[in-house]
Amino acid sequence: MKKKVLITGVAGFLGSHLAKDLLDDGNLLVGIDNLSSGKMTNLTNLPEDRFTFINIDVCSPLVATHPAMQNISEIYHLASPASPKYYQAAPFETINVNTIGTKNMLELARKNNAKMVYTSTSEAYGDPEVHPQPETYRGNVNTWGPRACYDESKRLGEVFCYEFYNQYQTKVKVARIFNTYSAGLANDDGRVISNFVTQALKGNDITVYGDGTQTRSFCYVTDVIRGLKLLMEKDEANGEIINIGNPVEYSILNVAHLIKALANSTSTITFHPLPQDDPKVRRPVIEKGTALLGWSPTVSLEDGLMETIRQYRLKLNLKKLKNKT
Ligand code: NAD
Ligand code: UDP
Repeated sequence: MKKKVLITGVAGFLGSHLAKDLLDDGNLLVGIDNLSSGKMTNLTNLPEDRFTFINIDVCSPLVATHPAMQNISEIYHLASPASPKYYQAAPFETINVNTIGTKNMLELARKNNAKMVYTSTSEAYGDPEVHPQPETYRGNVNTWGPRACYDESKRLGEVFCYEFYNQYQTKVKVARIFNTYSAGLANDDGRVISNFVTQALKGNDITVYGDGTQTRSFCYVTDVIRGLKLLMEKDEANGEIINIGNPVEYSILNVAHLIKALANSTSTITFHPLPQDDPKVRRPVIEKGTALLGWSPTVSLEDGLMETIRQYRLKLNLKKLKNKT
């Protein structure tokens, strides 16, 4: 059945993938974004008759009264910078969007009796002392460091969700998303996969921070989008927190070698200072999501990276061609 869906952060990496997917399903879509880390070029070729874009800050009180918000039945609240490069450059905006912005969206969901998915993060676990991380783990987050504006505001966003669910039975669900990638990440996004693939294809140094023994678990974007949509669908997930991530863990140095090999690159792997508070390990326990949603990832890192490299190569070649003409 056709639904009217709202995506906040629609011009970003995940928001634009989700937008295409929901429009392909035949839905009406309202997307809002303040274009702080997202790009309008992510939203080209969307059907104009079913997609409305509003350039607005999700923290603004004007969002709720905007005429396009009438009869919204689902809200995917994705607005927030996600790359350390962006959230550390705008700490106050990051705190606001995840707290005030989340409260705004919960109020809208409550008013419309709409369902809502809030995209929290594996950063809620901080630098984890429990490994791998189940949803019941309460985390190890430093309030006094450069990642705190993101980690702690995401955690407070979860608290808002909890209170709206508890006090008003708002149909909200929380996704704790682990590192996600595809060629949809802008080349200059700053996250590790976009950095390494861009560097490998250009023949530049592949910049490993620290000694590369820190680990992450990378999930391909199509698996994450499928997880978010299932989370929205399932009433059993109301008031629940679910890890959405791939439980296969890699060291960052291994990822550098893998990308270099898959891209057939002549780049040199170089080592640089580890950023402060960089988590040492990260791997989701996904049994809860599998039981509740019937969800698990299907794309291996190798397959996902091959597709990512193929698409980045096309993008970079197109750019080169444009620069020549
Ligand atoms: P992104 O930076 O590509 O996209 C975020 C979008 O939100 C951007 O288009 C940005 O302009 C917009 N935005 C930021 N502040 C806003 C505001 N105040 N009002 C309106 N729009 C605003 O990030 P992403 O990777 O697409 O992440 C989307 C969501 O998923 C974020 O909430 C992020 O915390 C969460 N998440 C992502 C990952 C991942 O690996 N991609 C991992 C964990 C959590
Ligand atoms: N990283 C790296 N080189 C880069 C970018 C990132 O070694 O050019 C490392 C970073 O220090 C971290 C991991 O890769 O250990 C993932 O970083 P990203 O910024 O993608 O995400 P997050 O740290 O938020 O998981």
